[in-house]
Amino acid sequence: MTAEHNAPESNPIVYYNALHPLAEVSGHEERTGRYISAALERMGIARVDHVGGHGVVATIDSGAPGPCVMFRADMDALPYANADGSMTAVHACGHDAHCSMLLAAAGDLVRIVRRGKLKLVFQPGEEDLTGALAMIKDGVLEDVDIAVGAHIRPLSDIPAGSMTAEVTHVACATIGVRFIGATAHASRPHQGVNPIDMAASYIGMVNSIHLDPNASWSTKATRINGEPGVYNNTSGWCEVFFDLRAQTNPLLERMLEMMNTMAQSTALAYGGRLEIKQIDYCPASDYDPELVAMIKSCIVKELGADRLAPATGGGGEDFHFYKVKKPSVRTAYFGVGVGAAPGLHKRDMTFQTQYLVNGVRLWKDIARRLLGDGQAACRP
Ligand SMILES: [Zn+2]
Ligand SMILES: [Zn+2]
Repeated sequence: MTAEHNAPESNPIVYYNALHPLAEVSGHEERTGRYISAALERMGIARVDHVGGHGVVATIDSGAPGPCVMFRADMDALPYANADGSMTAVHACGHDAHCSMLLAAAGDLVRIVRRGKLKLVFQPGEEDLTGALAMIKDGVLEDVDIAVGAHIRPLSDIPAGSMTAEVTHVACATIGVRFIGATAHASRPHQGVNPIDMAASYIGMVNSIHLDPNASWSTKATRINGEPGVYNNTSGWCEVFFDLRAQTNPLLERMLEMMNTMAQSTALAYGGRLEIKQIDYCPASDYDPELVAMIKSCIVKELGADRLAPATGGGGEDFHFYKVKKPSVRTAYFGVGVGAAPGLHKRDMTFQTQYLVNGVRLWKDIARRLLGDGQAACRP
């Protein structure tokens, strides 16, 4: 730890030790929000509480012209079932670390921002993909030109002590397609409409979708449920769930469109009815190349070229709604190698907290370049 992080308010581990035991699941981050707000209060930073639920938005406004930049940290933990059936919230995705890094940077950011405006966005509800949308609904994006996110990375992605300027995420969606037929006695199937036939045809059609093999994408049925009942009667409905993944948002949209058309035509062909529900949806990362290049140079400056890890990723992130809902926003998202193991979302995930300081340094350097004065300030 360097001398500059000796003050408790700029030491991420102090915040981490307080936030880790507070672990609260998506939509319930009340104490976490209160803690963050109180920490910002002690630093004298203006903020608004209860944005998009328990979110907190702090603003550092230079009063001088310049871009509006938002730095985003997510707040929520994950629920895990105990042997006795009760649930425990655990920070197994490191969102406590994300809040800690941003809080530890906040005091210095006040001194760094000399033009434009910096918003420190503490976002609830990332794990259930509701938080970014709720904050957008509450107006968090209105004045924003640039949005930057960050996540700790597991050991399987990048070495502890290194950083990546680009954590890539795929677009993903879960849909449920319910075919509704009409029951019939098994000896008189012609008197009904069998939803299992519809579902079977539909799954076959979906499995014959062919999109560009040079891009990565997949769709697959993950669950199938039918109306419970006797075995000598056809059921009234059959529901199939699909998980969709795609490298880009247009590819996922194309898959959803094709699957929708196929479901409609299947129901029509068999004389049945149809209900489609989109259970969740998360857009893919779509980063600004110049911003990513600038973050790479920040990592090299702060840690040295040997600590710059290549792009890494997988999984989904609701951060990308900020880009989808306001396409003019330029986004980037860096990763902090902290040696997390056995992996993110594992209940017993732990990591080396001494590397959180790297994230703090990066937040400050990014702010210096985008909103500082002097030589370092430049538009990437
Ligand atoms: Zn997660
Ligand atoms: Zn996460």
